[in-house]
Amino acid sequence: MKAIPYGRQSIDKDDINAVIETLQADYLTQGPKVKEFEEKFAAYVGSKYAVAVSNATAGLHISVAALGLNSGDRVITTPITFAASANCIRYCGGEVWFADIDPETYLLSIESTRKLIESKPKGFFKGIIPVDFAGLPVDTEAFRTLANEHDLWIIEDACHAPGGYFEDSQNEKQMCGNAKYANIGIFSFHPVKHIACGEGGMITTNDEKLYKKLLLLRTHGITKEDMSENHGGWYYEMQELGFNYRLTDIQSSLGITQLAKNTNGVIKRNKIAKRYKEAFEGKVKFQGLPQNSYNAHHLFVIEVDNRKDLYDFLRENGIFAQIHYIPVHTLPYYKEIGYKEADLKNSENYYSNCLSLPMYPTLTSEEQDFVISKVLEFIHG
Ligand SMILES: *Cc1c(COP(=O)(O)O)cnc(C)c1O
Repeated sequence: MKAIPYGRQSIDKDDINAVIETLQADYLTQGPKVKEFEEKFAAYVGSKYAVAVSNATAGLHISVAALGLNSGDRVITTPITFAASANCIRYCGGEVWFADIDPETYLLSIESTRKLIESKPKGFFKGIIPVDFAGLPVDTEAFRTLANEHDLWIIEDACHAPGGYFEDSQNEKQMCGNAKYANIGIFSFHPVKHIACGEGGMITTNDEKLYKKLLLLRTHGITKEDMSENHGGWYYEMQELGFNYRLTDIQSSLGITQLAKNTNGVIKRNKIAKRYKEAFEGKVKFQGLPQNSYNAHHLFVIEVDNRKDLYDFLRENGIFAQIHYIPVHTLPYYKEIGYKEADLKNSENYYSNCLSLPMYPTLTSEEQDFVISKVLEFIHG
């Protein structure tokens, strides 16, 4: 059997033809495909606005900048995420603070976040960046209540979760990243994620002022709208120090065809998760699923005692499981800011045991059975 990775993209004829068409059209970048992708993406998650960016890290950066962060301002995130969820705070000169995860869902714990906030004077924190880890939706409604009490903004890092949703207290379906309770949602189109553009990202919001600011920051701070003067047709103004964080039309045309397949991809991911759960129930711990949630399953995470041995054993069998993630506060760069190991117990215990098994729509039943049999073989010694 050929090697089985933990995740991989699926590109078909539609995707290839869409990219070829764009290559033969007038615009390779700043053309109609970007707008089309943004509109279709916003419609898919149910947000009013969407801003396509060169990658999710760039999206996180200008989102924090657009929400307004002064040097030294403090923002809370989870240690169990990709470093970019924290780095965006540093790009804007802010301080990163961590609260612990829930040991069953692996999501940023609302209780731990509340405890941290309430241990400090009012106004100490500016925002919260919770992550829909592995594709499991964060309860943004509960975070909104907390955020309102303390005048905080929320960026939902939904990079793992296009197509995931939860039902709120009114039994209304809330798609991940719809920006109903969070101010902003962030998505990634890196090939290990659901929608592959090579590189790419999307910012979603319902706030028109934020939307305009994000457009400005994406393109150097340059605009032709709301100008203080006008010298003629060529004239533009640079109103802020922005960036070049644009997505190309080539990438957007791939994003459009990939997005159209996402609902089915997530259904397939959930079928794979169901088979893992049936095989592991009572034998291997896996990520919990709150009753009102639909997991988009970027990952399927299990916990085992001798994780390194299982990781090595699977590799010997051509199964390339992965670890998500090394807790961000234990990375050398972040250790410097004063977090010690043992400060965030649930996150550290989780890291000692976690392993992400292969999870992607084109994983065959035969391949999955092989993975399951090797995990059980290891568990049973
Ligand atoms: C992948 C990922 C990012 C960064 O995405 P890029 O598009 O690679 O910049 C940020 N946050 C999380 C949770 C991710 O998984």
